[in-house]
Amino acid sequence: MTRLLHRAIHGKMPVAVGGKGIELFDAEGKAYIDASGGAAVSCLGHAHPAVIAALHEQLDRLAYAHTGFFTSEVAEQLADLLVADAPTGLSHAYLLSGGSEAVEAALKMARQYFVEIGEPQRRHIIARRQSYHGNTLGALAAGGNEWRRAQFKPLLIETHHIDPCYAYRLQETGESDEAYAARAAQQLEDKILELGAGEVIAFVAETVVGATAGAVPPVADYLKRIRAICDRYGVLLILDEVMCGMGRTGTLHACDQDGVAPDLMTIAKGLGGGYQPIGAVLLSQKIFDAFANGSGFFQHGHTYMGHPMAAAAALAVQQNIKRDRLLANVVAMGDELERQLTERLGNHHHVGDIRGRGLFRGVELVADRPSKRPFDPKLKLNGRIKKEAMARGLMVYPMGGTIDGRLGDHVLLAPPFIVQRNDISRIVERLGDAIDAALASLP
Ligand code: PLP
Repeated sequence: MTRLLHRAIHGKMPVAVGGKGIELFDAEGKAYIDASGGAAVSCLGHAHPAVIAALHEQLDRLAYAHTGFFTSEVAEQLADLLVADAPTGLSHAYLLSGGSEAVEAALKMARQYFVEIGEPQRRHIIARRQSYHGNTLGALAAGGNEWRRAQFKPLLIETHHIDPCYAYRLQETGESDEAYAARAAQQLEDKILELGAGEVIAFVAETVVGATAGAVPPVADYLKRIRAICDRYGVLLILDEVMCGMGRTGTLHACDQDGVAPDLMTIAKGLGGGYQPIGAVLLSQKIFDAFANGSGFFQHGHTYMGHPMAAAAALAVQQNIKRDRLLANVVAMGDELERQLTERLGNHHHVGDIRGRGLFRGVELVADRPSKRPFDPKLKLNGRIKKEAMARGLMVYPMGGTIDGRLGDHVLLAPPFIVQRNDISRIVERLGDAIDAALASLP
């Protein structure tokens, strides 16, 4: 009998014993194409020799030193690299152990910023429905995924939600992208005015929505409008790029494509590519100055922040992505993935939408294409697809999303940046078969 909680709850699971490139292997010798990078984590693939060597070297030199007493060369190097490539205005990096920790820290930085500059009355956070920012309580409160939140309500921190920018479901027929971007962004201004113009701390959003919606990018101009509204009311913009960042969409940061720079940005998954747990907050000079000229510190901290092993992994992963110019492959193979998905599934009766950017793609399934009616969530279509995909040696990330009480099943694809054309063909073929088998299994 297993004593491992997640396994005890999930039931039977394959035992992972190894990985190489884009594949993982189980104890029975079966290979799985990692077409979701786990949960958009494994950007360099598995067992990358240069990352392994960097980790060995770091372990020989220094495994751990508490950041309350020491800095480390490797953490300094990583911070320099992250800031050198950061969106305009982001000047410092705060290193943590994962995505939720990064979101928690960003929320607290935003709050402390206003306390430092003499606006302590600002206390509201606005986020979007159908978003996911992590499972710790602050991050969960900011998120808008009811499935994850419901059992913990009332949440300790109250947040406020507006609609996501979700063209497939929320753009009206005949409405231009421009008009939809304006309408969707207007919800933020309305919410700020409702709560009180000087009372809002920050707006938090995933640049491209990942786990809860399946790679939903904003329409053109939406984020520019959001940035302008935040500026008009002195509200900080926090972009959560834990899943969509660090090259996943074809540019280092997803927001680079929207021409927008946030005040705070969270990154994690692809940062360390799964070789070590790591996340980070990138913050603007303005926020740094408020801390430096105010209380002199950020009132936060974790035992493992700035961990040398995690920093070494992230540094090696990022250096290898750069050295091998893998973002060009993300763009080329992302286009190929979209092309092949459209060819295989574009006319499928139960595929409503295929979307995304770079190697971050989503397929949304519907019971009925014309009305976009989702499948009954009780059928657990996404779980069936996962099972059928695993049976075919394919790891994808199927989920059900929530928007205004409507549930839709989608599949998220996020293969490693090293993926090649023939791998894409195998992924799409197995996914198409898994979707058909899952649909055939419905009662
Ligand atoms: N933010 C986003 C956008 C995420 O997708 C996730 C995880 O899926 C998180 C935050 C939380 O990250 P972690 O699971 O590393 O705590």
